Amino acid sequence: MSGISLQGVSKRFGQVRALDDVSLEVAPGELVSLLGPSGCGKTTLLRCVAGLERPDAGVVQIAGRDLTHVPTRERPIGMVFQAYALFPNMTVRQNIAFPLEVRRQPGEQVRSRVDELLELVHLADQADRYPNQISGGQQQRAALGRALAPHPDVLLLDEPLSALDALVRTRLRDEIRRIQQAVKTTAIYVTHDQSEAMAIADRVVVMNHGRVEQIGDPPQLYETPTTPFSAAFVGSRNALRLPVREGRLRLGEAFDVAAPAGAGATAVVFFRPEDVELTTDGSGHPATVDVRIFLGSVTRLHLVVAVDGETARIHADLPSRRAMALGPGSAVAIRVDPAHMSAFGSES
Ligand code: ATP
Repeated sequence: MSGISLQGVSKRFGQVRALDDVSLEVAPGELVSLLGPSGCGKTTLLRCVAGLERPDAGVVQIAGRDLTHVPTRERPIGMVFQAYALFPNMTVRQNIAFPLEVRRQPGEQVRSRVDELLELVHLADQADRYPNQISGGQQQRAALGRALAPHPDVLLLDEPLSALDALVRTRLRDEIRRIQQAVKTTAIYVTHDQSEAMAIADRVVVMNHGRVEQIGDPPQLYETPTTPFSAAFVGSRNALRLPVREGRLRLGEAFDVAAPAGAGATAVVFFRPEDVELTTDGSGHPATVDVRIFLGSVTRLHLVVAVDGETARIHADLPSRRAMALGPGSAVAIRVDPAHMSAFGSES
């Protein structure tokens, strides 16, 4: 098993700084997800590892070997892209065999390796079909089989599920994780979908404007964002800007938390909808329900609250059975546990 090491990788396209001094270590056998909004540099970083893009500065190593200037075909990698990149004139079996035949492996060896992969990606019964005769999810499993055929040290996946419908996407996501763990390949997985990143990865790298914002395992990222961008991007948090008074940030009786060190006149607090509690004992800060959205086991309430003379909107998630009695116009009171809040200075 081989790790990946990226040190100070930068890449510009004209005026656009696509990557700005990115360093990242991926341990052998680890699956790291690159997460961030469109244009943040995820694909460019993946392409630098693949050798499809040459960094302006920095070093790309796989298994301790400097590959920064080594062409793609000589890198020990397998790739799966968003679009199904199978050869349309070849069957599933022929597609998976292709990288082995290019490497001139003996026929018997190719056959047994392809059989092994067809089992691994659960396509044995589709082996003789052409790509246009199988579903999108099956095509991506075939692409995964083809990428893994030559035993690559590293598997690179660029939004492999984005063209699939929701149900197939969840199933295939779990399949990819199972297969990656079975073959113990080191992997980088690009996505802009936070739930996909959290579900599949050992660690998630949050990227923004070509830079790494935060690296952490999914629970860390979810519970302890270290930058306002991570706080806003991961976990769809409420964000409220509040005045700093005597070093505290307060919303009536809803919460009272310490302002961050070095905060100016105002600071921003972040908290998740599931951490907004509707009180029933007469305490809390008054709020009015504006919209109620049924999401299954939970219902999301859009609440309007008075914040320092102005109104703000807060989302609260409640067990659906409790939310049934509430509708637009209902008066409620809220409280938020400070243990689940993050605050950042207004300069950030
Ligand atoms: P998406 O999720 O939309 O694919 P991304 O996070 O993968 O986005 P990149 O594709 O890496 O982002 O792009 C990073 C920045 O570099 C963007 O501003 C993009 O427009 C720019 N960029 C990427 N490739 C090129 C190119 N070949 N020529 C010019 N600009 C490019």
